[in-house]
Amino acid sequence: MTFRNLGLSSDLLRAVADQGYTEPTPIQQQAIPAILQGRDIFASAQTGTGKTAGFTLPLLHRLKTTNPTKSHRTPRALILTPTRELAAQVSDSVKTYGKYLPLRAAVVYGGVGIQPQIQTLSRGVDILVATPGRLLDHLEQKTLDLSQIEILVLDECDRMLDMGFIQAIRKILAALPRSRQTLMFSATFSKPIQQLANTLLKSPTLIEVAPRNAAAEQVEQVVHPVDRDRKRELLSYMIGTHNWQQVLVFTRTKHGANRLAEQLAKDGLKTAAIHGNKSQAARTRALNDFKQGKVRVLVATDVASRGLDIDQLPHVVNFELPNVPEDYVHRIGRTGRAGSEGRAVSLVCSDEHAFLKDIERLLNRTFSKDVIPGYEPTSPAQTKTDQPNSKQPNQHRRRTKPQTQSTPSRSKKPTSAGTRDRKQIRTA
Ligand code: AMP
Repeated sequence: MTFRNLGLSSDLLRAVADQGYTEPTPIQQQAIPAILQGRDIFASAQTGTGKTAGFTLPLLHRLKTTNPTKSHRTPRALILTPTRELAAQVSDSVKTYGKYLPLRAAVVYGGVGIQPQIQTLSRGVDILVATPGRLLDHLEQKTLDLSQIEILVLDECDRMLDMGFIQAIRKILAALPRSRQTLMFSATFSKPIQQLANTLLKSPTLIEVAPRNAAAEQVEQVVHPVDRDRKRELLSYMIGTHNWQQVLVFTRTKHGANRLAEQLAKDGLKTAAIHGNKSQAARTRALNDFKQGKVRVLVATDVASRGLDIDQLPHVVNFELPNVPEDYVHRIGRTGRAGSEGRAVSLVCSDEHAFLKDIERLLNRTFSKDVIPGYEPTSPAQTKTDQPNSKQPNQHRRRTKPQTQSTPSRSKKPTSAGTRDRKQIRTA
């Protein structure tokens, strides 16, 4: 199967080739032909499956081939996303895949000034990527006309509902023409999502390519039991010992993210934090610094991380397990993307056991626990493999020197092959 077989125009095939993609991913193989035929689609696909190109490529193809571009441009395609970061990334993808087409794309989201967005919109746009809140501001201020929309994409729909955007979405829908093509993407097919789909979609093509569990299988997953108050120490130790150069670390709270980032910085690791309290400029800067390697550790909360597209991120660390098991799958979806291998490490203390059980239930797997020598948890209830070691307090001191036999050379990027000695999740 090649992109050429899918019926995309040569301008798009060129842009895809520039990206180095040789084969369409499963979601692309299913979604692209259906969208090109003008069908509505209802797709269960999470980030990392190639879904963005899966809707962007056929959307661009249809805009190019169905109607000639008018002289005064009002948007013909609208892509709604839950977060600013995702909106920015989708907009980048639209520009990347559409670089050989005479179509204009713009992105609008909150947290930044509205005036430059008004100017961009007034110059004319073909494809608009937006978060619901700011889009609604534009509609209310009458700085945007959505009456010419031909294609609507709802990306990460479940997250938009989780974030309370349903009213905003309803108002936006009311401003759109009834006759249009609608593409809905959601990681889950929960009842509210299905209800929304029933009201929005006309005889949709159902696509379910990456059940949540399958995506998680690409990623090598490790659980390290450890006491809560030694997690930070263990994390610094692991980053140093394995010479990890790009690590995304998840905490449950904004406060926890800040505190951890400060502590890791004190350990000499270049660290940044992203969460909902940070300004958009600070979040974008932190993400760019991380992508460019200026920042080695990025500490994030679940909402802030949603949809982050960081190519081939080698390491994700759950510093704290999420209390919503689905978030675990979203988190580890940051690594091992589009076929590349990745590794997810969870540092789990005794009071997180219920969360761990929920995740195991969701994935239908049992995690084997890998206790790191010197970081044995003191709580006997922690795991079957625990070896409480409270009589040897010295073992709990921070290791200042990594064990040489497990330290990769500085220049060598750690690979999952080099870490296979670690126990992995095993199917129950
Ligand atoms: P997405 O699920 O849209 O967030 O995409 C995940 C990652 O896969 C992005 O970094 C894309 O650049 C990449 N990607 C998308 N399609 C392909 C493909 N056909 N082959 C290889 N990588 C791809």
